Amino acid sequence: MKVIESIAEMRQLRQQLREPVGFVPTMGYLHKGHMSLVRQARNENKSVVVSIFVNPTQFGPKEDFKGYPRDTQRDLAMLEAVTDIVFMPSVAEMYPEGFDSRVEVGEITGRLEGASRPGHFRGVTTVVAKLFNIVQPTKAYFGQKDAQQAVIIKKMAADLDMNLEVVTCPTVREPDGLAMSSRNTYLNPEERRAAAVIYGSLKLAQERWSEGERNADRIRKEMTELIEKEPLADIDYISIADAESLEELDRVEPPALVSMAVRIGKTRLIDNMVLE
Ligand code: AMP
Repeated sequence: MKVIESIAEMRQLRQQLREPVGFVPTMGYLHKGHMSLVRQARNENKSVVVSIFVNPTQFGPKEDFKGYPRDTQRDLAMLEAVTDIVFMPSVAEMYPEGFDSRVEVGEITGRLEGASRPGHFRGVTTVVAKLFNIVQPTKAYFGQKDAQQAVIIKKMAADLDMNLEVVTCPTVREPDGLAMSSRNTYLNPEERRAAAVIYGSLKLAQERWSEGERNADRIRKEMTELIEKEPLADIDYISIADAESLEELDRVEPPALVSMAVRIGKTRLIDNMVLE
């Protein structure tokens, strides 16, 4: 496994990789969710590139860029056996002085996470477009955990004729259902216990859906009531939307994306489930 920090060197080594090349972009502090993407990339390709880059432009001014958890040595040890190249550029390497371009996807970036985190997806699409240009993967792997991100990246790749396939991989969960996330490390034991209510509410939606409930408002309301019973939880949004356009639904038609952002103490967590 080679660890590379410069774009020039990444480009050079890219030429020597065996095709096809699978690529997994991450912000590091790796867990089993990330590793499931890496494993799928390994299974479907001859070479695997993983990037670790905490991208400042996708964090809002009051968000956790500075405090975002980092542990490069641990990340590299986890990747060693399954990765050919780890690309770990500095912020100055990715955004040198004078950098002044953006990649922006339209309407779907204004909804859900985009409504709560203005500018977030512009930061994501800009850095992912750069990473795609640098790594030139055959396939790139994203987690269903960040459902809207995966939809937006697919749209960007299609609209801008990027020559690669974008693959979405299932969400990996803790035994109590909490979606794995680098940010779970912010939770104290009491908050960690409370966070299980997020998956609990998704399961409730799934249950109502299986019983035949098709009124989106009624499902949203039941989810809200369940979460409000947990004193440490504070809802940012609960959405039941068309899985592709991300437009809110009145009547639930498959495939529908049930998604949410909930603060547990000071930690903002997101999760989702597709009803089909
Ligand atoms: P991040 O480091 O949080 O930017 O995540 C890097 C990639 O891993 C993104 O495509 C995420 O959607 C994906 N990912 C994060 N957590 C999970 C999880 N629990 N299950 C599956 N994929 C995940």
